[in-house]
Amino acid sequence: MQVFKFGGASIRHAAGVKQVADIIKSHQKEKILVIVSAMGKTTNALERVVENFQQGKDFQTELDSIRKYHGDIMHELFHESSEVWKKVKEAFAHTTIQLRAGVGYDQLYDQVVSMGEVISSIIVSEYFITQGLAAEWLDARSYIKTDNTFREGKVDWSQTEKNVSAVRQIINEKTLITQGFIGSSDKLTVTLGRDGSDYSAAIFASCLGATSVTIWKDVPGVMNADPKRLPDAVVFEELPFKEAAEMTYYGASVIHPKTIKPLANKNIPLLVKNFDNPSLPGTIIHETKIHSLPPLIVFKDNQCLVSCRVTDYTFIDEQQLSFIFQALSELNIKINVMQNSAISFSFCIDFREDKVAKLLDRIAKHFEVYYNTGLTLITVKNYDAVTSEKYRKLPGVLLEQLSRSTLQVLVKG
Ligand code: ASP
Ligand code: MG
Repeated sequence: MQVFKFGGASIRHAAGVKQVADIIKSHQKEKILVIVSAMGKTTNALERVVENFQQGKDFQTELDSIRKYHGDIMHELFHESSEVWKKVKEAFAHTTIQLRAGVGYDQLYDQVVSMGEVISSIIVSEYFITQGLAAEWLDARSYIKTDNTFREGKVDWSQTEKNVSAVRQIINEKTLITQGFIGSSDKLTVTLGRDGSDYSAAIFASCLGATSVTIWKDVPGVMNADPKRLPDAVVFEELPFKEAAEMTYYGASVIHPKTIKPLANKNIPLLVKNFDNPSLPGTIIHETKIHSLPPLIVFKDNQCLVSCRVTDYTFIDEQQLSFIFQALSELNIKINVMQNSAISFSFCIDFREDKVAKLLDRIAKHFEVYYNTGLTLITVKNYDAVTSEKYRKLPGVLLEQLSRSTLQVLVKG
């Protein structure tokens, strides 16, 4: 049994949905569970709906354009008489009902933003049926159970495993289509964090003991750098789980960071394949040792560097560090790189305005705080003389860190 995951970019138009069906048809002898993301940039658009709603601004226009976007795709795929129209309409009606509820921001966010995946999965599964595929739609929220950390749900693995095992029976007869990114706690939808569909694929694969997971992408495989930034980037034929996990930790967006662990723990290989050209070999991530990997370069944008300086000529000590870490931990903020000196402690985090404001508010009571935003963290794993020279000499380096295998520089712009 295999898990296939298709991202939003792949299914951003009707041609993409057709391509998904073609890929499934070419694997018809196999048992497959299909996970889909929301179509195109729907998640961003739904985020704007929630944002506008919360701020008392017009959210209807955005919602209408999301409706039209899906409607246009459906017109290309279905007859007017298809069941799909009613199902998608109900999903939109549900979204609107959520918007009247007036609940806390993160909870509301999850109820509304999750609809992108619900709608895309309805469209894909209904299209499979028109193509003569024995397909069945599953609601991932009945299977993936989480706590109620809205927008960043923590999976309840034992409950999820129990629920998912019920799927084994159906998958013998049918191709199953479900949503990435979403689960539930009690009766409420909880999302697993932005770009979490890969993680959903890993969760289902782990619980079902799948033989492999394939993530279909708009790149030829996992590359040693983002080809949009470095045109001479190369594709890996294979990568060890460990290397792939570290890459995602540093910010490589090719796979969601939480994806590798559940797969590595059960030794389930992860394939990254090209959606437009499935005959390309892609990359296999599995348990293996590779002796010399080329430098692996990861760019992480939208970083914020915070420096906390003691004000009274004492030195930075463990107690002060512990105060800072406590604040970070309570606000659920992850440090991407850190450095300390006699009188100051600096750390780099993802810039999320609301969280950073709360953090500054807390630590400014004890320290003189400086911060810069709009930074890029560049990590070079397995650096060599050429890459080390190149990245350390970049203009605007604010912080640099070098270990035996990894170079990190934080730069402006
Ligand atoms: N649709 C969600 C997002 O854009 C999940 C995903 O694409 O993996 O973050
Ligand atoms: Mg995505």
